[in-house]
Amino acid sequence: MRFVWKVFAGMVAAILLAGLVIDLSVVGEVRDGLREEINGHVRRTTPLVASMVDFNAESGELVTDQLLRVARSEPDIRITIINPNGLVLFDSHEDVASMDDHGQRTEVLDPGSIVTRYSNTLQTHMTYHALEVMRDGVVRAYARVALPQERIEARISALRLSILLSVLLGLAVALGAAFVISRRLTRPLTEVAAKVRDLGRDEASQRLPIMRQDEIGELCAAINRMADELETRVEVIAKDRRQKDAILAGMSEGLIAVDRDQKIMLINTAARRLISLTEDDPMGRSLWEMTRITEITKAADSCIVDGIPAVDEITLNGEQTELVLRLAAAPFREGSEDSVGCVLVLQDLTELRRLEKVRRDFVANVSHELKTPLTAIHGFVEVMHDDPQMEEAQRQTFLTKALAATERLSAILRDLFSLARIEAADGALAKEAVDLGALSANCLREARAAAEIRDMKLEMHSPAHPISVLGDPEALATAVSNLLDNAIKYSPPGSKVDLLCDLHEGFARVRVRDQGPGIPSAAQERVFERFYRIDKDRSRILGGTGLGLSIVRNVLAAHGGEVSLSSEVGQGSEFTIKLPT
Ligand code: ADP
Repeated sequence: MRFVWKVFAGMVAAILLAGLVIDLSVVGEVRDGLREEINGHVRRTTPLVASMVDFNAESGELVTDQLLRVARSEPDIRITIINPNGLVLFDSHEDVASMDDHGQRTEVLDPGSIVTRYSNTLQTHMTYHALEVMRDGVVRAYARVALPQERIEARISALRLSILLSVLLGLAVALGAAFVISRRLTRPLTEVAAKVRDLGRDEASQRLPIMRQDEIGELCAAINRMADELETRVEVIAKDRRQKDAILAGMSEGLIAVDRDQKIMLINTAARRLISLTEDDPMGRSLWEMTRITEITKAADSCIVDGIPAVDEITLNGEQTELVLRLAAAPFREGSEDSVGCVLVLQDLTELRRLEKVRRDFVANVSHELKTPLTAIHGFVEVMHDDPQMEEAQRQTFLTKALAATERLSAILRDLFSLARIEAADGALAKEAVDLGALSANCLREARAAAEIRDMKLEMHSPAHPISVLGDPEALATAVSNLLDNAIKYSPPGSKVDLLCDLHEGFARVRVRDQGPGIPSAAQERVFERFYRIDKDRSRILGGTGLGLSIVRNVLAAHGGEVSLSSEVGQGSEFTIKLPT
């Protein structure tokens, strides 16, 4: 209910209550007063009337002249003279002939008493008072005076009417006052309320205009101060939240917080990615509903039940990929003492574990690759040592083979050092401006001798202008030479190798194209792995180490470039180096 109506209702209730109290107390008192007045009137009048009762000395009849005069002068007063037998001798308002025996009327039986009752004769409430008329010590008659009570009711009605009018006047005043209050007080309050609503809806920077100097003005100023404070607090909260969100989003570890019912309270982007969560709004949803990874839900469950932190490593096998995760679960108190939630931290160890495996494999491969020529050298030298009488021709054969094995050893070591040098630089090679065209031409010149042995043609295609890149000339020369060596090594004698240098789509490009056997598509990615060879024996015979292409890839990665291969079995191969200019 609006304030003004409450005020109005209060006023109406107060006025009605006041009216009721006045009616009950004042009307009662007035009625008592009027009764007293009537009683007094009859008490005073009756002796007067009694004194006027006179009987004719001869006939003994009542003399009525005086009585009639009194009755005329006071028409309200009813005068009745009754003889001791109850016969009515005189009545100012009625025909005595029609009146019954009045000897048994209470006021006649008990003279001097005041009696009020309904008069059947006059059909109204009357107040009666009778006195004995004594003559010569004998009761000669009863003089009775009666006054109608309707005077009282008429006065009471008039009084009630004025009370009612006062109440109505009061109500009218209350209504007027309510309107005045509405105009003076509630209207500005309503305006303030509307503006406060706008303030809540619109931008927080909006403020109420202070157009008054009164309490309403003070209220507006207080609301503005409160809005300022709220804005500051909201800003602090928003900033905290932004910081928290940024920290969570920037974390490489996945983080999930759940309450004691495993309902998700917080989850960051990394965690969503790691558990492949696609649900837009997982907040408040059960963890088990959001992920089918039982290791995670079980870890959360036991952490909540036991309240003990736990760490585990889990491997998730997807359709194409394998994911290795370090899963740490730590309990936290959430709100009340006995309520425990759980924070899960997921760390992606896949790459780390893969690198560890690569390293292990590499060590095993290196050992194996070194062991083969070393065993050969050891065998030849041992045989020669044990047989000093060995034929010279055989000794020469053994020495040649041992020498080839040492060359192989040094080739492997050379390539391993190349790899180590590039990896040790870790992207921080000593770079300088290099003309890739001139560098490639130089590599081609060095490869000519090997090509001539195999009766192969090398052709250079490069523009007249220099192709300038920033790089380590030694490392880049190793990369181009490795590609040329392979093209010469694996192509049939008499075939041709083209070396093409150009600028293409903003990159410096070197292509080595041969007419060799080509590389099957299944092996095209693998040829860049360390020690990978399509035909191990053939590679070994040709002096290959299986490291040439992985060196090329590492060199290019260290320069922010890449190497790619396009080949078809029987159609030759084309290796392309791309470098940023
Ligand atoms: P390798 O020392 O054995 O040549 P690489 O890493 O240079 O080692 O090459 C890996 C393998 O890729 C080679 O053993 C060979 O089987 C294949 N390969 C490389 N270049 C060519 C090419 N131009 N034509 C055909 N096969 C090649």
